[in-house]
Amino acid sequence: MNCIFCKIVKKEIPAKIIFETEKSLAFMDAFPLAKGHSLVVTKTHYEKVQDISKEDNADLFETVRRTISKVDKITDATLLAVHNGKQSGQEVPHVHVHLIPRSSEDSAGPVHSMFPNPPQLSDKDIQTIYEKLKES
Ligand code: AMP
Ligand code: ZN
Repeated sequence: MNCIFCKIVKKEIPAKIIFETEKSLAFMDAFPLAKGHSLVVTKTHYEKVQDISKEDNADLFETVRRTISKVDKITDATLLAVHNGKQSGQEVPHVHVHLIPRSSEDSAGPVHSMFPNPPQLSDKDIQTIYEKLKES
């Protein structure tokens, strides 16, 4: 499989590794959006969060927790983000958590600023979606 993060996990290509366990790896993003932008990946190749085993998921988030204690020292405010699926903006189809130091000068704004045209949903629409989510 031609996966860039699997290659980093196998140390076939270089990365600035911050921390690792048997199941997860934290390293600096090669094209940082802010000083200290880092990524945490599962060592096993999973495409989406819902594919991750319980054990790997627990380990992944523990590595996020440990890494964010370092990254958060940069600005004292860190965005955690996971693009889960191509249409959500996921460019590398191997689960990864972004840790991006934020500041009032980065002009990235709150999550609502990413969606200039949110859908106008009626109470009925919301109820239908709610029932679907609850059932499945
Ligand atoms: P996403 O768009 O959420 O899939 O994020 C993929 C991230 O991987 C981007 O922030 C890229 O800058 C980063 N990236 C791509 N190639 C590398 C690499 N070789 N080493 C470290 N980070 C990378
Ligand atoms: Zn992979």
